[in-house]
Amino acid sequence: MGNKKNQPDDQIFTDAIGRLDQAFEQDHLDPEVLERLKYPRAALQVSVPVRMDDGSLRVFEGYRVRYDDSRGPGKGGIRFHPNVSLSEVKALAFWMTCKCAVVGIPFGGAKGGITVNPKELSRLELERLSRGFIQQIADFIGPETDVPAPDVYTNSMIMGWMMDEYSKIRRQHTPAVITGKPIPLGGSLGREDATGRGAYYCIKELESRRNWKPEKVRVAVQGFGNAGQHVAHLLHGDGYRIVAVSDSQGAIYKPDGFDVASLMYMKNESRRLKAVYCDGSVCESVDAQQLSNAQLLELDVDLLIPAALENQITVDNATRIQAPVIVEVANGPTTSEADKILNAQGTLVVPDILANAGGVTVSYFEWVQNKAGYYWPLKEVHAKLHTIMQREFGNVHNMMQHHGTDMRTAAYMLALSRIGDAISAQGTDRYFSAENR
Ligand code: GLU
Repeated sequence: MGNKKNQPDDQIFTDAIGRLDQAFEQDHLDPEVLERLKYPRAALQVSVPVRMDDGSLRVFEGYRVRYDDSRGPGKGGIRFHPNVSLSEVKALAFWMTCKCAVVGIPFGGAKGGITVNPKELSRLELERLSRGFIQQIADFIGPETDVPAPDVYTNSMIMGWMMDEYSKIRRQHTPAVITGKPIPLGGSLGREDATGRGAYYCIKELESRRNWKPEKVRVAVQGFGNAGQHVAHLLHGDGYRIVAVSDSQGAIYKPDGFDVASLMYMKNESRRLKAVYCDGSVCESVDAQQLSNAQLLELDVDLLIPAALENQITVDNATRIQAPVIVEVANGPTTSEADKILNAQGTLVVPDILANAGGVTVSYFEWVQNKAGYYWPLKEVHAKLHTIMQREFGNVHNMMQHHGTDMRTAAYMLALSRIGDAISAQGTDRYFSAENR
């Protein structure tokens, strides 16, 4: 067995893989499977020199981690954020591995990122950075090896630049190398709102199991990026009361609920030009009480949706979380220590690897359409996404009840059994042991 010691700054990753042991305790998994899943298969660190608009040169650090490919090519987004580190990218790639297994799509897990505050770059600088990153990782990715996608602060336009750069390097139009592309460049209908929609389908499952009346359900959404906006919009359309939303600048609160379409307009369109990044902040809304992001998490609401970054619910605030149900649209918003507190409080947490899997599911549809060269109508995308989310929510929910565990552990058990089946199909020590040889 290998060296289990991680670097001191490897804390996010160490916390992430700690969840494996919890799921393992509950189920009879092969120890070899567990051991394999504690280490990424390959990690690439690159530097990307970019000529800035003023003529100076800046060098950015980036990463791509392929975590596991037992079930298919690596799959996972590329994040542009000042806090991106190798530890974070490894954790995110591990979560992608489990996520793809939970929804049963034929991918392993991967992730990438560049340490940058993209809001400080001009559009031309951003394009040069995106293309430069692909130049550095082109040999590491590919439609059959590792397929990137958007993540925090990257979007369809950036995916289009990246696909174009890869196609130029290969001298071959290769849309299936990346998903989340603009529609005219081979993107799938329904990919833009897929993460929010997948979470919405999970919430509809809770609604029917718990007999919720949407008008009575007060919802707080932390993070008003792609996923947060779409889940809020879909819920609002069904009559849910979206009482609080936030972005990186702060939160707004209105007990009788917001008109989500107006908030989206204000955040995305109210500026002269629709930018690659949203310039406006939700905090500019006038007729609402202003709160901090931390206060939003602790509001007296019925449903809390963290849809921003990891490590938001920690030992420091978990006891003050009042919402009885949390649906994790962000990756890793709850630390494992906080999980224990929430479980003891009886809070139901629909875990990230299930709740936010709608995005990668429609990415899978996009990849299939690119490879087939045949594109589906929106209705078909929605119907297929709904079928998968409903089925896997049901599987995780049944597993939770059957084993008397929390929903996150149940989701990991389901993921590990599927990854384990793929690994075991190639033979483990039981097959290769001396007495069987
Ligand atoms: N970045 C998204 C996630 O964390 C989507 C990944 C993908 O579509 O490959 O799930």
